[in-house]
Amino acid sequence: MTAIVADIGVRDRAPRPAAAPDDRAELLGLTRAEIAAALVAAGEAEKPAKMRASQLWHWIYYRGSRDFAEMTTLSKELRERLATRFSIGRPVTSKDLKSTDGTRKWLLKFADGEEAECVHIPEDDRGALCVSSQVGCTLTCRFCHTGTMKLVRNLDAAEIVGQVMLARDHLDEWPSPPDGRMLSNIVMMGMGEPLYNFDSVAKALKIVMDNEGIAISKRRITLSTAGVVPMIPRCGAELGVNLAISLHAVRDDIRDVIVPINKKYPIKELMAACAAYPGLSNARRITFEYVMLKGVNDSPADARELVRLLKGVPAKVNLIPFNPWPGAPYECSSDEAIRKFSDIVFNAGYSSPVRTPRGRDIMAACGQLKSASVKRSKADILREQAAKDAAAVALPA
Ligand code: SAH
Repeated sequence: MTAIVADIGVRDRAPRPAAAPDDRAELLGLTRAEIAAALVAAGEAEKPAKMRASQLWHWIYYRGSRDFAEMTTLSKELRERLATRFSIGRPVTSKDLKSTDGTRKWLLKFADGEEAECVHIPEDDRGALCVSSQVGCTLTCRFCHTGTMKLVRNLDAAEIVGQVMLARDHLDEWPSPPDGRMLSNIVMMGMGEPLYNFDSVAKALKIVMDNEGIAISKRRITLSTAGVVPMIPRCGAELGVNLAISLHAVRDDIRDVIVPINKKYPIKELMAACAAYPGLSNARRITFEYVMLKGVNDSPADARELVRLLKGVPAKVNLIPFNPWPGAPYECSSDEAIRKFSDIVFNAGYSSPVRTPRGRDIMAACGQLKSASVKRSKADILREQAAKDAAAVALPA
């Protein structure tokens, strides 16, 4: 492993600490209709509220504005009133790491102190943001570092869209340039299982796709799932984004062990859901991710079985060299085994690139994300609340 080139350390560009006592309502993550309703609740008349909501949308999602004072299309009086009742926040950046290869990982702290990671992977003329959907993950895939964390909680829509907003702040892309954006693509491949938090993920992605704001098209968004089969049709129908499947094994007995959700939704059901995914064509294929684990899933026979499984599904295969993490029970396959595997898949007519690991030196590569958040029991949360209440009584304002 190479050294970290820059630990940019704690940097908080948010206008206020996320955990500050503040009873202003957050506008980030709301639909236009919800913004309009919030304005009405704050005393705005019904009729203009709809137009005001569109104006706010433009400032928030097109210009990246966080300060009502600069929203000059609204009257000064309204701007002042909005500032007292609403906020437009960001997660706090509690760590900002840059890899030797340009990959950047931000550790984000949310208002309740929980943390998740978000990774920017730049290419020459574009870049993808790897977005988290949960703090931790319930899936316990054996080769994944995030799987060793307990799920703390789902992220809400504001926290998911907040990752995109924050990355744009850091990349200085407000308003976004029409060409050459360094945040051009989104992959829902960070911490968590997006299809176990579908409502919030869908709400956030609809905001991200909205043409009058961030405007990243569904063709440039990929959602990766370990195989929550019942949610795959909804993902296709409601979002129409590209789908990636963390397949990783071609036999149920092996997949049951390394991707335990397979016990619930075995390979056959998963492949049937993939075949039925709307909008597939040769130009629009499902990506099958396959982590190369030495001696576990990397034989030529596995490769041939993979080809057999993919029959009838417009597919491409993404071979991922296993990224190690402390205490991981697996090793990466040899270059030779990966090459042989890739050749078999390629010769059967499927694109089968080997994913170049990015950001390994800062533990930002696939499967290396983990934050220090740990699950708190309900009793812990109640105890903390009681302590806060007691302090509030002891120290009257
Ligand atoms: N829960 C979703 C989203 C996570 S995406 C899913 O499983 O698809 C993260 C991707 O990195 C998945 O394909 C995952 O299987 C893969 N991955 C996890 N641990 C890895 C590791 N140590 N090395 C390489 N890839 C890994």
